[in-house]
Amino acid sequence: MPEIKHPQDAIVKVLRTCICGSDLHLYNGNVPDTRVGSTFGHEFVGEIVEIGKDVTKVKVGDRVIVPFNIACGECHFCRQGMFGNCHESNTQSTAVGAIFGYSHTAGGFDGGQAEYARVPYANVGPTIIPPDMDLDDAVLLTDVVPTGYQAAEMAGIQTGDTVVVFGAGPIGIMAARCAWLFGAGRVILIDQEDYRLDFARGYSYCEAYNFREMNDPVVFIKKITDWMGADCVIDAVGAEAEGNALQTITGRKLLLQAGSATALHWAINAVKKGGVVSIVGVYGPTDNLVPIGNMMNKGLTMRGNQTSVKRLLPRLIDHVQNGILNPKGLITHRIPLEEVADGYRMFSAKLDNCIKTVMIP
Ligand code: NAD
Ligand code: ZN
Repeated sequence: MPEIKHPQDAIVKVLRTCICGSDLHLYNGNVPDTRVGSTFGHEFVGEIVEIGKDVTKVKVGDRVIVPFNIACGECHFCRQGMFGNCHESNTQSTAVGAIFGYSHTAGGFDGGQAEYARVPYANVGPTIIPPDMDLDDAVLLTDVVPTGYQAAEMAGIQTGDTVVVFGAGPIGIMAARCAWLFGAGRVILIDQEDYRLDFARGYSYCEAYNFREMNDPVVFIKKITDWMGADCVIDAVGAEAEGNALQTITGRKLLLQAGSATALHWAINAVKKGGVVSIVGVYGPTDNLVPIGNMMNKGLTMRGNQTSVKRLLPRLIDHVQNGILNPKGLITHRIPLEEVADGYRMFSAKLDNCIKTVMIP
């Protein structure tokens, strides 16, 4: 049972929590300083059951969306809406702010795959869930919806653009759906799991292709874009547990180790000259096998970030309430929290046509 440690803390009784592709980086041992005894989980919603004496924006009994970033709300970066890059919440890093349940490199805060969680800076992050909003929609507003949306936003999509998304996990599927909101003319999703590609054709209204059926995904994308390349490419894969896809697909003699950046290679090479590569996939510190020469020669713009959930929540809550986005449509499994280990196994191995699993304590 977590306790209030600071006057701005709140304790949240968790009502829904999810497993994210980012958790798989921890699960696969690719995030340094992941300590035994820490609680995972950065996607959760719940009810406030206790507040510190300086908490004024929420009260006991409120049901809240808890953004995955922990942000002070007052530093140079938070004031610009860069809540994912808070300068105060994570003293272990000069790059990223703290994240719930995401190792000591992200602040060492316990996460929300639990019955209760301590929420620091409770005047900043927690956002009241509208009374008529389904908790299954709300929990996907803690990360998946804003991350998919920010991926599309960072891609700088112009009206009519062809947008390619690598990765048909929840993030890539949501990014593909959000690409239309920014005016895309064509959206193409690439993955290796046919069930996810089938799902995405219906959910994201996109074309979807399996890279295992291509000789070379870069050539494939060029071919279907009149040899120009895509206008914008989104990397929604990040570090891979088994980083040998590039080797097996292109036959090149590259020995890539766990945590390779295959999708990012493809993204840089498949985007048109002067195009934009938007990176939301998470990489560890050792993913340096990036074709930076091509990036320079082609005049690319590359953007990436942890998502600033809080900045996007007002407009995304509207989009959910207006039916423009349907987050809970991504949920394929609902399990009790006690079955969390099975949930990880299933999501990691892509079993039982799993897209997104919600756990109920
Ligand atoms: P996921 O593991 O469910 O999905 C990843 C998908 O990528 C899988 O379907 C896999 O088959 C596919 N894939 C693997 N290699 C590929 C390749 N070379 N080309 C195309 N597809 C490939 O994960 P998710 O929950 O959708 O998350 C996706 C990524 O986004 C993860 O790296 C996660 O850490 C990251 N993420 C970032 C943020 C952020 O704030 N920037 C937030 C949430 C998640
Ligand atoms: Zn997540």
